[in-house]
Amino acid sequence: MHVYADHGATTPVDARVVSAMLPYFSERFGNASSIHAWGQEAREAVDRAREHVARAIGATPSEIVFTSGATESDNFAALGSAFANESRGRHLVTTTVEHHAVLEACGFLESRGYEVTFVPVDREGRVDPDDVRAAIRNDTILISVMHANNEIGTVEPIETIGRLARERGVLMHTDAAQTVGIMPVHVDELSVDLLSISAHKRYGPKGVGALYVRKGARISRIQHGGSHERNRRAGTENVPAAVGFGEAIRIALESMEEEAARLRVLRDRLAQGLARIDGARLNGSLTDRLPGNVNVSFEGADSESLLMALDFRGVAASSGSACTSGSLEPSHVLSAIGLPPDIAKGTVRFSLGRTTSAADVDYLLHVVPEIVSQLRRKPPLTTPNIR
Ligand SMILES: *Cc1c(COP(=O)(O)O)cnc(C)c1O
Repeated sequence: MHVYADHGATTPVDARVVSAMLPYFSERFGNASSIHAWGQEAREAVDRAREHVARAIGATPSEIVFTSGATESDNFAALGSAFANESRGRHLVTTTVEHHAVLEACGFLESRGYEVTFVPVDREGRVDPDDVRAAIRNDTILISVMHANNEIGTVEPIETIGRLARERGVLMHTDAAQTVGIMPVHVDELSVDLLSISAHKRYGPKGVGALYVRKGARISRIQHGGSHERNRRAGTENVPAAVGFGEAIRIALESMEEEAARLRVLRDRLAQGLARIDGARLNGSLTDRLPGNVNVSFEGADSESLLMALDFRGVAASSGSACTSGSLEPSHVLSAIGLPPDIAKGTVRFSLGRTTSAADVDYLLHVVPEIVSQLRRKPPLTTPNIR
């Protein structure tokens, strides 16, 4: 049995998306910036894709800038708004649980003399809007809070934070890589000015995404060159990727509610089953949560061994920990929700998606308890072997 339970990392490209993309590699290969018929054909395809992406988030097509993915979109949002608004101030507000793309971009800005306030989260990973409000200063130029956390699945109160950003006249960015196409995302309801999307998290191709830039929002470009994307992002448009992205988003929106409801049922059954394992602890919020996310810590186990044993049984999952050069460090998200390091180190994320069936969940509920008890019986790897 093979069970792919790592949809939070990436998803398979939908067959309909692949067929929509194919003609744009060879027959319709034009450069979307060229004047001639080949160019116009490519331009029309990119514009159709832009309409699909815009419609999915309640934006207008001219507010969508295609990028190489959510990592670039996050960098674009942070650096672009910092550079464009230097005369107003050099202070940014974000949270301790953001994706590395936001955290590292903010870290880079700090090294260049900007100041960043990292607002903490509660034990479920939720940001308190009052803490964001308290962090805003007169020289604050950007607030960046993710829509839903990729590790523990917690959905943040962006509507409230967006409203208070607007009241203070501060640009508001959200990383919606995990939510667009599986939860309702509307840029006006969320009151955001900038929003990051990634295609490959929603059954589209890798290496393409978008940044939504509200009309009138002050943001500089970070990639210089030609006047592509209305002068906001230089570089020949990746036409096949944009077409695939548009098609993937269109398809996801068609069945979003049914798919989300289906995943919630599977997610809750998996979570409840795993919670029955001795010493297991569910992380994240039970109410405000991504439909396909289950994140569990197993006391007395370590995630590396868990993932290897799962892989051996045909299961793909991922850890809540970043493995840096052999030493397991608890992830910044698990530290931020206050998990002690010895519990955090036994954390696994199962992320369910379109490939997940009820039989997959049955299989997980069969193998995970076995693996956990096997691992607990083994002595820790560090026991000295001296007799
Ligand atoms: C996957 C992910 C990213 C990075 O997206 P890429 O398109 O792979 O660069 C950023 N933020 C979040 C929340 C993600 O889940």
